[in-house]
Amino acid sequence: MIDRKRQELKARIAAACRQAGRPEDSVTLLAVSKTQPAEAVAAALAAGQQAFGENYVQEALDKIDALIADRERLQWHLIGPLQSNKTRVVAETFDWVHSIDRLKIAERLSAQRPVGLPPLDVCLQVNVSGEASKSGVEPAALPALAHAVAALPRLRLRGLMSIPEPVEGLAAQRLPHARLRALFEQLRAEGLPLDTLSMGMSADLEAAVLEGATMVRLGTALFGARAPRAGAQAAG
Ligand SMILES: *Cc1c(COP(=O)(O)O)cnc(C)c1O
Repeated sequence: MIDRKRQELKARIAAACRQAGRPEDSVTLLAVSKTQPAEAVAAALAAGQQAFGENYVQEALDKIDALIADRERLQWHLIGPLQSNKTRVVAETFDWVHSIDRLKIAERLSAQRPVGLPPLDVCLQVNVSGEASKSGVEPAALPALAHAVAALPRLRLRGLMSIPEPVEGLAAQRLPHARLRALFEQLRAEGLPLDTLSMGMSADLEAAVLEGATMVRLGTALFGARAPRAGAQAAG
């Protein structure tokens, strides 16, 4: 089941790559496993999926623990909001963090990344939807943040991430992705060696690939609809 869904999604990604004139292997599928049990992650892993995105730190830690025997084959990405009291465990446990929008959080992650692990791969989350969104650095403040984060010794700044306001229609969906891509190209022109544009979710993956996404974050399209989280909190 998960195997078939994954193949369907890979075919959709490949078709969008062909339409964009991009190599078919230029987009990584990040499986967003929030609210899914460890068994669902294990089933996806058995189908060949290795990169997983989680939103809530404690929920992710439980799953990482449950699947510790497969730790070497799994890549864990934090894509949800991160508060400063959780940076240590995240620095010790995750492979990537996509949701950095403040220097303070980046500094803590760099200071707390254990010496035995490679530098933590990070993206900066950018607010590409203006007042509609509260999280993400404002585009005007992005260059200063990016250069400061790139200078931190135990982080590797890989690129940018966004969660645009949901809109209908390919043309409208492409606009915020084009905006993120332009910011990405600007930073590259300033000398930052970025290689990751984390954008596109189940509802707008084609729009994101057409605008240059290198990592699409797919939850419901892969695992099916999520049950509401019991006792959900805004951040975790
Ligand atoms: C939940 C989530 C996704 C996946 O959303 P779907 O619509 O289920 O594909 C991607 N990125 C972030 C940051 C999320 O919180």
